[in-house]
Amino acid sequence: MIQTAVLGFARIGADRELKRALEQHWAGKLSASDLEGVARSIRRSNLTGAATAGIDILPSNDFSLYDHVLDTAVMVGAIPKRFATNGEAVDASRYFAMARGTASAPPLEMTKWLDTNYHYLVPELRGDTRFRLDARKPIGEFREALDLGIKTRPVVLGPLSFLLLAKIHEGHHEPLALLDQLLPVYAELLSELSRAGAKEVQIDEPCLVHDLTDFEISEVERSWVRMAASSSLDLVLTTYFGGLGRWLDRVLALPAAEFHLDLVRDPAQLQPAVAALQPNARLSLGVVDGRNVWITDLDAVLAEVEPVIEHLGESRVRLAPSCSLLHVPYSLDREVGINSQVRAWLAFGAEKLSELDLLKRALGMDASARIQLLATNREAILAREQSRLVHSARVARELDAVAPDHLIRRSDYRHRANEQAKVLELPELPTTTIGSFPQTPEIRDARQRARRGELDEQGYEAFLRDEIATVVHRQEEMGLDVLVHGEAERNDMVEYFAEHLSGFVVSAYGWVQSYGSRCVKPPILYGDVERPTAMTVRWWEHAQGCTSKPMKGMLTGPVTILQWSFVRDDQPRAVTCQQIALAVRSETLDLERAGAKVIQIDEPALREGLPLRVAEQDTYLRWAIDCFRLAANGVADITQLHTHMCYSEFNEILEHIARLDADVISIEASRSQMELLDAFQDFRYPNSIGPGVYDIHSPRVPSVDEIVLLIRQAEQRIPREQLWVNPDCGLKTRRWEQVTPALEHLVEAARQCRAERTGR
Ligand code: GLN
Ligand code: ZN
Repeated sequence: MIQTAVLGFARIGADRELKRALEQHWAGKLSASDLEGVARSIRRSNLTGAATAGIDILPSNDFSLYDHVLDTAVMVGAIPKRFATNGEAVDASRYFAMARGTASAPPLEMTKWLDTNYHYLVPELRGDTRFRLDARKPIGEFREALDLGIKTRPVVLGPLSFLLLAKIHEGHHEPLALLDQLLPVYAELLSELSRAGAKEVQIDEPCLVHDLTDFEISEVERSWVRMAASSSLDLVLTTYFGGLGRWLDRVLALPAAEFHLDLVRDPAQLQPAVAALQPNARLSLGVVDGRNVWITDLDAVLAEVEPVIEHLGESRVRLAPSCSLLHVPYSLDREVGINSQVRAWLAFGAEKLSELDLLKRALGMDASARIQLLATNREAILAREQSRLVHSARVARELDAVAPDHLIRRSDYRHRANEQAKVLELPELPTTTIGSFPQTPEIRDARQRARRGELDEQGYEAFLRDEIATVVHRQEEMGLDVLVHGEAERNDMVEYFAEHLSGFVVSAYGWVQSYGSRCVKPPILYGDVERPTAMTVRWWEHAQGCTSKPMKGMLTGPVTILQWSFVRDDQPRAVTCQQIALAVRSETLDLERAGAKVIQIDEPALREGLPLRVAEQDTYLRWAIDCFRLAANGVADITQLHTHMCYSEFNEILEHIARLDADVISIEASRSQMELLDAFQDFRYPNSIGPGVYDIHSPRVPSVDEIVLLIRQAEQRIPREQLWVNPDCGLKTRRWEQVTPALEHLVEAARQCRAERTGR
C-alpha cells in the first residue's frame, strides 16, 4: 500500500492548552516542568491521533514551545550575545527571554513566516558567529515518540532556509557566507539522529520556492552534497508554499531520498518532477491543502496521482498535506454552530488526516468499491460547486457593473484637501487616533455574557452605547481633533465584519497560532459576499451624536478582510476581494450619507499579501489597490478618506500606496525615529501622512518632549501641511492608565509644535 505522511502538526493544543500554560508560566504560576508536561501531552495526542487516523509517516521535532525558527537557532547555537549563556545550554528562561525580551535585552525581531500569517523570530547572526550543536530537543522528542512505539521522522529547518531567513547583524556579510560554518553542525545532528535510531529526516527548505539566484541554488547543491555524504539517513527535502519554478531540475537532482512538492499551490510541477526524478528517489505529493480549510476533491487527486504511481511504483510515491498543519485549526468536531451545508465542505487538521487515509484506501480498491468509499466526498464537492449558498447572480451582476470611474475620486488631492479644510476646520498638525481604545475586562465580560445569552440584546446594546459615549468624552477632554468611537463592539477587526456579511461563517474553536501564545481565529469565506444591512452606521451615528468634533467612520478594508480569512479556493482571490470591496463600498457610502465627514478604511494586511515571487507581485498589487479604491473612492470631494497600515516596509511599493489616493494615510513610524518617512520624502508623496509618534506596542508612556522630537523629525521630511499626529496603531491592547497620559502628551506636543515656526 502507498504510504501517507504528515509534515508537522498544529501545536497550540486543540483547546489552546499550550497558550494557557505558557501564559501561566510567564506569570510565574506554572513551573517549567509542568509546562513541559502540557507540551508533552500535546505532542502525544498529535502523534496518537494521526497514528489512529492511519497515517504512516509521523513527524517529531515539529513541536515548539514558541517558534520553530527560534528552536533552530538554539539548536545550532546561534544565541545573540545579549542572551549569552557562557557555554551553558539554553534553558527555558533564556529561551523565552530570546522570544519575549527582558528588561535589559530586547527580544529577537519577529516577522512573517513566508507568505503565511504565522510569525517567526528572526535569528540574529554575526560574521563571527560560531555554531555549535545542541541536539537535546530533536533527540529528546524523537525518543519520547519511540517510547510511545512510534518511530518518527524528525523535522528540521534546512541550513539554507535558516540562513536566508536570518539577519546578519554585524559585518556586511551575506548570510550564506556562514554556510560552511553551519554545515558541520547539521552533519553532526544527522549522525546523532541516526544513532538515536531515526531512518529518515525531513529537511524543510521552503526558501526553494523563492526567486533564488544562480549562486544561491549552487549553495543549495553544495550543502546537500555535504549533508548526504556525511549521513546514512534518508534525507527528505521538503518544499512548500509554491513551486520550484526554474530550478526544478536542479533541485530534483540533489542527493535526497525523497522530494516533497506543494501540488496545491503549483500542481503543474508534478509532470516535470516525475520526469526529472532520479531512479531511486521518492516523490511526496502534497495534495491536501495545508493552508486552507476546504475538503479535497479526492476523485480529482486520484486521477492526478494514479498515473504517477503506475509510472514510479507504489514504493516511490507518498501522499501528504501540502505543508505542515500548523496553519489550519485542529478539528471540526465541536463546530456545531456552522451551517451544516457549509460544514460538509470543510476540513480542518483532523479531517485532512482522514482524507489522506481515504486516498490511501481508495488506491487499493477496485472501481466500484472506490465509488462507495468516496461517495460522501463526491456529494459534498458537487454540492459546493452548485450551491446557491455560494453563487449569487446578484453579486455577479454588481461586479459586472463596476466601471473604471468607480475607482477614482472626482477631483485631485489638492482640490479635495481645500474643500475638506473648509468643512473640517482643523488646526495644523491635526491629532487623531487609529480607531480602537482599550478593550477592558468589562467590555470582554459584557461580550461573553451577550454570547452566552446572559445579557440580552438591549442590555448589550445599552452597555456599548455607554462605553462609546465615555470614550468620546475622554477624547474631548484630551483635546484630540478628530475622534473615534473606540470599536468596543468589535471582538476583532475582521471577524466583526465577517459576522455581518453574507458569504462568511465564523468558527467557534478554529484557532491557529499567530506567534508564541497568540492565536487568531480567521473567519471562513465560502460564498459570494453581500452586505445585508449597514454594519457600523448606527454606532457611528451614536458616537457623532455625543460630540461636535468630527467623528471618523471606521472600516476594515477588503484586502485585510481577505488576507485574514480562510477564503474560497474555487475562484481567484482577486474576484473574492472585489466582492468584499463592493460590500465595504456600500458601507462607506452609507456612512457618508449618514453625515460622516471623515472615514477611515484600514488596510494593515495590504503589504503582507505580497507574493513570494517577484513576477507575481505586480499583478497582486494592481488588483489589491484597485479593490481598496473600489471600496473607498466613491465618496464626494469633501469627504476625507483615511487609511491605516501597520508594518511599514513600504519602500518598494510606494507608487502603489500613492495609487490608493487616500487623503490621509497613518503608518507605524515611532520605532524607526521617522526614518520610514525618507521613502515618502524621496517619492514626494503628495497626500497627507500621519506617522505614528506613540509606540503603542509598549506599555511605556512617551513624554511630551519625545513626541515633540518625533514630530520635528517628521517635519524635516514632510511639509507641515501634509502631516497628522497620531499613535502607531490602535489602542485596544493597552490600558487606560497608559493611554490617557500618552494621548494627553501627544496633544500637548502637537500644540507646542504648532506654536513653533515650521521646521523647513
Ligand atoms: N482600527 C484598528 C484599530 O485601531 C486598526 C488595527 C490595525 O491596524 N491592526 O484597532
Ligand atoms: Zn495598525
